[in-house]
Order: sequence, then structure tokens, then C-alpha cells
Amino acid sequence: MSRVGDHASCIYRNPNEPVEARVSDLLSRMTMKEKLAQMAQIDKSVATPTVLKTLSIGSVVSGGGSAPMGRASAADWAHMIDFFQHYALQSRLGIPIIYGTDAVHGHNNVYGATIFPHNVGLGATRDVDLVQRIGAATALEVRATGVHYTFAPCVAVCRDPRWGRCYESYSEDPETVRKMTSIVSGLQGSPPAGHPEGYPYLAGRNNVIACAKHFVGDGGTKRGINEGNTISSFDDLEKIHLVPYLDCISQGVCTIMPSYSSWNGSKMHSDKFLLTNILKDKLGFKGFVISDWEGIDRLSHPHGSDYRYCIHASITAGVDMVMVPFRYEHFLEDLMSLVESGEIPMARIDDAVSRILRVKFVAGLFEHPMTDRSLLDVLGCKMHRELAREAVRKSLVLLKNGKDPNKPFLPLDRNAGAILVSGGHANDIGLQCGGWTIAWHGDSGRITIGTSILDAIKETAGEQTEVIYERHPSPSTLARKDISFAIVVVGEPPYAESLGDNAELKIPFNGTELICYVADRLPTLVILISGRPLVLEPQLLEKVDAVVAAWLPGTEGKGITDALFGDYDFKGVLPVTWFRNVDQLPMCVGDQCYDPLFPVGFGLKFNMDSQPQ
Ligand code: BGC
Repeated sequence: MSRVGDHASCIYRNPNEPVEARVSDLLSRMTMKEKLAQMAQIDKSVATPTVLKTLSIGSVVSGGGSAPMGRASAADWAHMIDFFQHYALQSRLGIPIIYGTDAVHGHNNVYGATIFPHNVGLGATRDVDLVQRIGAATALEVRATGVHYTFAPCVAVCRDPRWGRCYESYSEDPETVRKMTSIVSGLQGSPPAGHPEGYPYLAGRNNVIACAKHFVGDGGTKRGINEGNTISSFDDLEKIHLVPYLDCISQGVCTIMPSYSSWNGSKMHSDKFLLTNILKDKLGFKGFVISDWEGIDRLSHPHGSDYRYCIHASITAGVDMVMVPFRYEHFLEDLMSLVESGEIPMARIDDAVSRILRVKFVAGLFEHPMTDRSLLDVLGCKMHRELAREAVRKSLVLLKNGKDPNKPFLPLDRNAGAILVSGGHANDIGLQCGGWTIAWHGDSGRITIGTSILDAIKETAGEQTEVIYERHPSPSTLARKDISFAIVVVGEPPYAESLGDNAELKIPFNGTELICYVADRLPTLVILISGRPLVLEPQLLEKVDAVVAAWLPGTEGKGITDALFGDYDFKGVLPVTWFRNVDQLPMCVGDQCYDPLFPVGFGLKFNMDSQPQ
């Protein structure tokens, strides 16, 4: 069998040849085994030099759920990925791997990276340009670590806040989510005029392959159950959940991930009508479809028990690359036997592999397989942190400002005698960042570098102002006469996916009780840190002086004080309906019995203009 050196002068190696010519040339040289291996994405823990070299595996992944890299630096990441690439390039045809991870609000698996607000907060900004700039900054931080591919953006249209992934959705409103897809042009770069519709695009080495997920209807499941069933007509699916995909595709999004969820009982990973007839044929998507993590296993019960069936159903439906991530040997054996028996047509395999190779050529991986070390310094740099701070302050939604409409409570006086800060979320970077930060479901404490809300208050308050922090203030502190007001910061613990499904949506950790206890004694501002609206009881709302929804802001707490102390006005508007009680759910804008506490689009400003903006 010929070796890579023999191919040095062939078409696929020549960057001046058109991508499609390179794809067919390379495809024509590949053995069946090599083609099938391109269709596998394996976990980094099983990507040994031998596997990479002998199998010519398509892609390697650090999933949100796989072992985090601890405090590994950008250089450590780059070193690890270049090590994998080094062996992939030694495979017979020298096909580079794509390394993928979930950089869903900044490069969130990496210690010291800039962590931007989660999507629900970005949806509150409604700022298309800001979101595009965040995409570009994220791409730089991702590329600095050698990663080529992020499983983002999540363009779910969340129709029920009980869903544990509500915070990964920009809005319940399809039009808002559609606008926020500008993140794709930030991540991948903007295709030039005349770029063929549906054809994948990547501007250069400062950009990263994106993945629109989870196709389609993930945010529409009954009772907001993660991986559940979305029951709707095709018409509604198209009008609500498909909308953002059209924009992603026209921006040249390179990959799309099917949802674990089902549509009218049909699992998305095996839905040929949606994956092939609609996505590829009707919408003209020419990139590749990547399964979710062990997504095909969920096609049989117990998961993966009939693996042959799972593989057949998903590949014939239109899945091109499978996030295996561990049982790749089993996957490749069964896939081979399905092709040999004719149950999966060869044409389907050639189509899947062509799509994968197309993205690799478009991404310039054959020319530049290794990490650009000149980017190392961008991780968590000042410029990106400033951008995140801007995003935080623009994402804040002011829900109440003063008990008397003529006496606004905010902006706060930075020269107040003393300020009491309480609540566990006031001084905790981990809680501020939420899920998908360092670990899959996030964590509390100093999990990464950032400015907590308490730090930000201390930095912003005047020199003469004493800032007292007591997580749960003692009666003697509350009785001090020199405290001008209290800031109570409460909210949700971090969570991801099904761990976040919640039918009650109360403020956790007795948050309501803490707020009322403080508000009975001092003028009180409440800051809510949450991935979604939570129940705000009428008596709580009456007692407190001001309420700010800060979502899951990420590492830059100064964005919050920017608005609290009046350096900037509030700009954010609700991306999702703030319900009165959970019995109303699901309830979205446009419903006949729409009776929210605060409607979508609501957000006050200092000038007390309470009309939706
Ligand atoms: C999630 C995806 C994610 C993948 C890889 C899955 O559990 O549903 O959104 O991209 O894991 O981490």
C-alpha cells in the first residue's frame, strides 16, 4: 500500500485546486476502512498514537462530560492536540483530525479563558454585532489552544423554562434566536458575497468550525423535559424551531448536530425526513451532520444494546460523523458489515465522507494542521474580558426599580455609608458562570479566573463606603444604622442538560426567605443569577426595592456594577416570558392566554420607561 509521501504531488494536496476536486481525488484514494474511520469522532482518552496512525480517525473530542483538563494552560492544550495531529498526519494518506469541544460561552473548558454570559443573557442584549464580536473572540481563544471545532451555537428556541437547557437558548422567540445566529459569522468569519448557499465556510486560522445544534425542536419538548418529545405539526416546527437554522446555513455553518429529542415520537438521530429531505435536500446544507455524544446509542433500549440497528438507522437517516466516543471498534466493525451486506449503500458512505473532507479542506487543515502558537496570549486577555463586561452590562434586565414609581431606587449611591451584600451567589465565580464551565455541569467556588459581584462592588464603591459581606446576615448586622441598603444575590446552582430539568422553578437555597428576611429590615436590591425566570412571589416583589435579572453572566462581575452604580443605563430586555407561577407553563409570547408577570421584551431603564422596548 502506498504511503503519504507518494501523494505529495496529487490533487488533494494542492491548495490551488478547487475544494470539490480535492475531495473527489482524496476519496478515490481511500480504502473502505479509511472512509469509515473518517466517520468516527472518538474521545481524547482513547485516541492513542496507534489508533490515529493506523485507522485514520476523523475527529477527536473533549466532550463536556469527559474528564476536564484541570488547570491545563493554553499551551498544554495546544501541545496535546498537536500530539494527536502529529500521529494523524502519519496515517497512510495523512488526513488531519478535527479536534472538537464545547466552547459554548467562551472557551469554557479551559482555566483562565474569558467566560461570556450564557446564551439566555446574550438574547437579552438583542445586540447582533456584540454577539458576532463574542463569536470572533471565542474563536481566537479556541484556536489558541489548538482546538479547531466548537459544538456551538445552540440555536434552540426554548418554549418552556422548566427545560434544563433553557439558558443555552437565546430566546423563546424564533426571530430573536435567528438574529443571534450572528455568532456563526463571528466564530467562522463572514462568507464573501456570492458564497454558494449552504456550502461550509471558514475564513482562516483565527476562526473555528461551528456547529448549530440541536436539530430540531430541542426547545419544544413536552413539559420542557430534556431529550423529550416535541409534539407539533411540521408547519409549527418550521415556523418556530427551524427558523434559526436557515440563517446558520446561509452563513456557511460547517456542521449541524441532531437533537437527542424526538419529533412526534421520531428520534431526531434517525429521522431521515428532517435530516436528509429537509436539512440536506431542501435547505441545501453541504457541511456534515455530527451525532450528539453517544446520540445514536439512544436509538435502542437499553441504550446501544442493538448497536447494529442504531448505526444503520442513524447513517441512513443522514448522520455523517458519529460522536462515538468510546466504542469506536464496535462502531467500525458493525458499520463495515452493514456496508458489505449492502444495508447501507456505498453512495451514502461516500456522501458522508465527502462532507467531512469538504469541511477539512475548507478549514485549511491540510495546509495548517498544527496550532498557531502566536495566539497563545489571547486566552483571557484584557480585550476579551472588556468585551465580556460589555456583554454582561447589556444583558441585565431591570425588572423593578423603586417601590414608588416616582422614586427610582437605582442607580445606587457609590458613597453610601455602608452597603450590606449577602447571598451565596455574591462571591462565587463558579455560580456566576453556571453549567458548561470547567466541568460539564459547572461547579461552585474559584473554578477559574474572574471578578465576582462582591469584588466588583468593592472596586466600584467609594473609598469611604464600607462593603460588608455576610452570606446570611446576622440580626446584629441588620440592626446597624449606618447601612444604607442591601444587595442580595441569589439564584440557581450550576447544572447541565437533564440535571437542570425543574418543574418548580423556586429560588433555590431558601432564596425567597433570605430576600424577605433582609428586605423586612433594609432597603433591598435583589440580583438573580439564573438560567431562566424563577418564581417571584407577590409578597417578595412588594417588599423589595429593586430586582435585576443577571442570568449567568460569566467571569466579568464588573459588568453588573457598571449598570448598578449608573455608569451605564440598563439595556437588556427579557428574552423569555417571566411567568407568575409554574401552572401557567408552557406559556410563550403569542399564546392566547398570555398573562405573564413580565412579558418578553420587558426591561426598565433609569428613566422609568416601563414600556416593552
Ligand atoms: C450535549 C451536546 C454536546 C455534547 C458534547 C451532549 O451531551 O447534548 O450539546 O455538544 O454532549 O459534549
